[in-house]
Amino acid sequence: MKNGRKRRTLYDCTKCPAFCCSVYERVAVTARDIARLARHFAVSVEEATKKFTRHYEGERVLRRARDPLFGQACIFLDRRTRGCSIYHARPQVCREYPARVRCPYYDVYKFELRQQDDPAVLPLVQITFNGNRNNGRH
Ligand code: SF4
Ligand code: SF4
Repeated sequence: MKNGRKRRTLYDCTKCPAFCCSVYERVAVTARDIARLARHFAVSVEEATKKFTRHYEGERVLRRARDPLFGQACIFLDRRTRGCSIYHARPQVCREYPARVRCPYYDVYKFELRQQDDPAVLPLVQITFNGNRNNGRH
């Protein structure tokens, strides 16, 4: 998610409205992630846990808030720049995403930009998983 581009990739997060920070209801955080957030905001781990995370189907995930493009998105997504507002303190799962040379959301996005021939087009992607964990990332 909003990855640094350490290796050659076929997507560009700086040109993407941040599907990955928006479409998943679950962005799981570990104790280490919460400790990093606490350091970043100079608050206690308890406060960071309460303020920035919530319980979702048995695990800790980042809170979400209203988003003008997708309805909801991660609380840390900058709604203006569509970049991560806590880039250096973001959770591990965000650092690793999408863990491939291609990002399927970016491919769909670029495809529709070309297909519709409209630079303002925004394909509203929604993923639904069967089973217990809906809209999860992993
Ligand atoms: S959806 Fe893909 S291209 Fe867009 S910000 Fe996320 S990882 Fe980057
Ligand atoms: S922490 Fe940053 S990279 Fe991770 S989902 Fe939220 S806005 Fe996206």
